[in-house]
Amino acid sequence: MSKFADLHIHTYFSDGTSSPAEVVSEALEVGLSCIAITDHDTIDGIEPTIKIANKKNLEIISGIELSSEVDGKDIHILGYLLDIKQDALIEKLTQMQEVRIERLKKMILKLKSLGINNIEFEEVARLSRSKSVGRPHLAKVLKDKGWVSSISEAFGKYLGETSPAYVPKYKISTYEAIKFIRSQGGVSVLAHPMLTNRDELIPSFVEAGLQGVEVYYPNLSQTVADHYIGLAKKYNLLLTGGSDAHGKAKTSTFVGKIKIPYDLVEKLKTHHLK
Ligand code: AMP
Ligand code: FE
Ligand code: FE
Ligand code: ZN
Repeated sequence: MSKFADLHIHTYFSDGTSSPAEVVSEALEVGLSCIAITDHDTIDGIEPTIKIANKKNLEIISGIELSSEVDGKDIHILGYLLDIKQDALIEKLTQMQEVRIERLKKMILKLKSLGINNIEFEEVARLSRSKSVGRPHLAKVLKDKGWVSSISEAFGKYLGETSPAYVPKYKISTYEAIKFIRSQGGVSVLAHPMLTNRDELIPSFVEAGLQGVEVYYPNLSQTVADHYIGLAKKYNLLLTGGSDAHGKAKTSTFVGKIKIPYDLVEKLKTHHLK
């Protein structure tokens, strides 16, 4: 029987809403054999997911989705098959999480100066199980406390890039992100290039050590997918794919919305530690 994988899934350890147990049962329900947990800038969800999947017929691949930038453009790099017990990895991620915490505190101060004075850091931090806190969590608190009636209003009025409580987030460069994943023995993959839309940078990413590109992604036309499959061939990159499921936080997708053939996972594994 053919086996299938979904290599892009978020849990409530970053900005998804699903627990590891929910992700595992959803994956089994849709007949997946393998999933990768790829939370934003944190690996905290991996071990709990492995524990739950243990003894069930589901393989868990360790992953991460690093936020990085080139010339102010947000670019997401997926890292697969990382050794989640390595001190250097944990240390670097802890630093990145501290940056997020400081930034969140600044946004709360900005909200206070706008008269929104009943939001405390601790209650926002509680919404994310790890330390990877961000604007989605703050948006939820704004909504729960009645300052706005929806998450999108929270972004529009306060948290969007041109809104008054926005604080930019320091990000590592995409080149650093790729090299960092490689230095940890991981496989580096450009996430959803069709959303990022900066194809002209791909050759420089390849030079920095990029090994794959996420060509299978929800709600794509075949033409767009073919375009990226062509680019992957040109630069000799691995093909990966995943649903980018965020639980209830992203209704346009779900675990298993993208199912890729398991032989792509096997190819990914041959690039581990290369
Ligand atoms: P952060 O990493 O803290 O800057 O938060 C970025 C996240 O906020 C993105 O990954 C989205 O999930 C979410 N986000 C950004 N803009 C919006 C928006 N206009 N409406 C809803 N969610 C948004
Ligand atoms: Fe996200
Ligand atoms: Fe992403
Ligand atoms: Zn994602």
